[in-house]
Amino acid sequence: MDSSILDSDSGNVKVVVRVRKFIKREIERGARCLVKMDPASQKTTLNAPSEIDPANSRSQSRKIFEDKSFTFDKSFWSHNEADAHYAHQEDIYNSFGEEFLDHNFDGYHTCIFAYGQTGSGKSYTMMGSSEQPGLIPRTCEGLFERIESEQSSSITYNVHVSYFEVYNEHVRDLLVARTNATQYLKIRESKADGVYVQNLTDEPVKCYADVERLMRIGDINRTTASTKMNDTSSRSHAVFTIMLKQIQHDMSTDETIERCARMRLVDLAGSERAKSTEATGQRLREGGNINQSLSTLGRVIGALADPKRQRRGSSSSGKASRTRDVVPYRDSVLTWLLKDSLGGNSKTAMVACIAPSDYDETLSTLRYADQAK
Ligand code: ADP
Repeated sequence: MDSSILDSDSGNVKVVVRVRKFIKREIERGARCLVKMDPASQKTTLNAPSEIDPANSRSQSRKIFEDKSFTFDKSFWSHNEADAHYAHQEDIYNSFGEEFLDHNFDGYHTCIFAYGQTGSGKSYTMMGSSEQPGLIPRTCEGLFERIESEQSSSITYNVHVSYFEVYNEHVRDLLVARTNATQYLKIRESKADGVYVQNLTDEPVKCYADVERLMRIGDINRTTASTKMNDTSSRSHAVFTIMLKQIQHDMSTDETIERCARMRLVDLAGSERAKSTEATGQRLREGGNINQSLSTLGRVIGALADPKRQRRGSSSSGKASRTRDVVPYRDSVLTWLLKDSLGGNSKTAMVACIAPSDYDETLSTLRYADQAK
């Protein structure tokens, strides 16, 4: 599992899919794995549930299911550890995390998203646990290993970390403990800084242990908020940002050149909320906002993946846009904030996370990932 997904020259957006193992409640209800992945072709097939599968029995009475196949840049089989092509946390990082770091050291921005229903493995993939660290800790560790190995008297490295979440189209700082007086942060735009969050904590970090401390603070703040507000974490997008500044000193001319690169690592809100039809009041607004930001993100990534669509314009109304900004960044807070990390020469990867036995949600995730290719 060590081949790179960036080898294929298919533009600046990579889409990969990862299926997780069964969790306790699925084992208890005797769920059947509906997903197959072919390591040779990267094809992912979602099989129709059988009539006796209790996990899908409710919807089975109303629908006819079909087998569906999709091909992505990479399929990560994390379902059964006994299989030879099982994808470990390390394999996910080795496939594109490392190369995204190369890109950052060359001065480009990168963005990695985890998309999928709640419980599909997004947080596991992005953050993981202390025994099984995910993409965020591995990227930070890799970053400091490189800084150490490339240290020279002519170059200085400067690293900053921020961590915020977008909830109901509002931004909250995850590095600040929440009180009742906590305010949402304002989004600003300037010529010099582009789109930015005003007063967001931006911590300088010197080593991996500093980042680890901040990840812990952020996750505690996110969990505390979700407990207080009844499971908010699945309804917010968490954006972890690492800013790498390289300052090169030319001894002969005494000049300095600065290169800045931003890494965005995003754990998106659960995609199932987007379709909730029974919600009312606050839930309805939340569902609408999640729907809006996930569908806008899908359109933005789709437009970026296809240069022709960027030129034609990608307005949902189908009208050709006369503005220069034909990628619909401004249609949601999340995409507006990530604009600098998504367009231009940035590299974007989306990890579509799927649960093994949920036909409807998995099909919807695979379709979303497919239109982002
Ligand atoms: P999400 O962030 O999408 O809501 P989680 O990352 O919290 O989902 O995953 C749900 C559960 O499944 C967690 O208990 C997590 O540890 C487990 N899990 C997810 N992906 C994997 C995997 N690849 N291998 C082992 N356990 C996993």
